[in-house]
Amino acid sequence: MTTASPTKTPRREPRARTGARSSAEARIVRSIGEAIADRRLPPGTKLTEESLAEAFGVSRERVRKVLLLLAQRRVVTLIPNRGAFVAKPTPREAREVFEARRIVERAIMERLERLPRPLPADLLDRLRDHGALEDAAERDADRKAMIRLSGQFHLLLAEVAGNATLAGILTDLIDRSSLAIAAFERRSSHTCSADDHRRLIAALIGNRPGEATALMIDHLDEVERQLDLEAKTDARIDLKAIFADEPEPA
Ligand SMILES: [Zn+2]
Repeated sequence: MTTASPTKTPRREPRARTGARSSAEARIVRSIGEAIADRRLPPGTKLTEESLAEAFGVSRERVRKVLLLLAQRRVVTLIPNRGAFVAKPTPREAREVFEARRIVERAIMERLERLPRPLPADLLDRLRDHGALEDAAERDADRKAMIRLSGQFHLLLAEVAGNATLAGILTDLIDRSSLAIAAFERRSSHTCSADDHRRLIAALIGNRPGEATALMIDHLDEVERQLDLEAKTDARIDLKAIFADEPEPA
């Protein structure tokens, strides 16, 4: 088997490189999602390949792949001959996103309510640990952390509910609702209330039938009610400055 060793090595290499590439792409997707959520990247911002490539220390080709992926998720809009822009949802799209979230998150809450009681200790720990992080961010008035943690709270519930497909759909919907919130919030307020999240955690632990699900629907209604679906956004954004403290690629 003289061919065994020469074929083995090159075969393994591209696989390793593919893994590295996709994790770098995942990192950029996450960073852009967080920048949208905490309003550093408002809807309509032009995303130039060159600036993003420099900001993240990656090739323009890799940036292009990320932008395509975000366009498929409707977080980014690609306009021929003009480039990529942070998507600017219409009021109708904003309402659709919240309607979709109510459907998906109702299903997630119903799954959680069906879990045997008492809830497993590791699940209780995760809920309480998350609640403590949100409390601390609120105490420190750390707006960036509050926004990041409030999105993570919804994803944590999706994850522990044990339906990865629903969790994947919710990940996209949360990025799109961040866009809707950024485009249409009435004032620069924090939209997901830590207080609501505390009540949700207590309801899940307490297990009065239907209570946690009803609270989640009220919570999403309240977030949507805070939107002014007539508002407009316009800003000039320096991509390199926004991502200046991104870590160097590994
Ligand atoms: Zn929330």
